[in-house]
Amino acid sequence: MIDDEIRITIAAQACLEILELGLDAFAGWLEIIVYPGAFRVTQETLDDAGVVHQQDNSLSGESWSRGPVILSWQDVQEDSFSLRPGHNVVLHEFAHKLDMLNQRANGMPPLHPDMPIKAWTEALSQAYENLQQRLENHQPTINAYAATNPAEFFAVICEYFFTAPDILWQHCPDVYQQLKAWFKQDPLARKRLN
Ligand SMILES: [Zn+2]
Repeated sequence: MIDDEIRITIAAQACLEILELGLDAFAGWLEIIVYPGAFRVTQETLDDAGVVHQQDNSLSGESWSRGPVILSWQDVQEDSFSLRPGHNVVLHEFAHKLDMLNQRANGMPPLHPDMPIKAWTEALSQAYENLQQRLENHQPTINAYAATNPAEFFAVICEYFFTAPDILWQHCPDVYQQLKAWFKQDPLARKRLN
């Protein structure tokens, strides 16, 4: 049963991302589906040889292009009410929605006119490559899930940007600057004030 606690917990965190962007940033889709806990989905992946593999996965959240955002309430609660720096399923799934504003989930939302594409691409691809390298060398990194693909990288850095901006700044200051310009917010400055 969806109650106000569920509605407000999800809405407040989703709205944090669009505080300076306006509600239109979440236009083009309607539904948020909430399951009590993690949900199982069958996902198909294509390997390098062109073979389709079916996999049963347990998910805490999912975001469909032009479709719903799906969330596990148990995971939303864990991320919202406990201190898990860099982990927040609501921010993650709604970041995918922002990424998909220009249709494709490719780790690059439509940039503002004053943001050079080159600076964004360089900052993010450099950080993505560094992440892969550090993982190979077993060095400390942000959440390794970010290395899945550029779309997941974007969703994970957004989680850090709002919940652990100091860690994101430490690992990839250029990425922090790009997100600061895109979200028109500076969570690090906010954190220092507290
Ligand atoms: Zn994701």
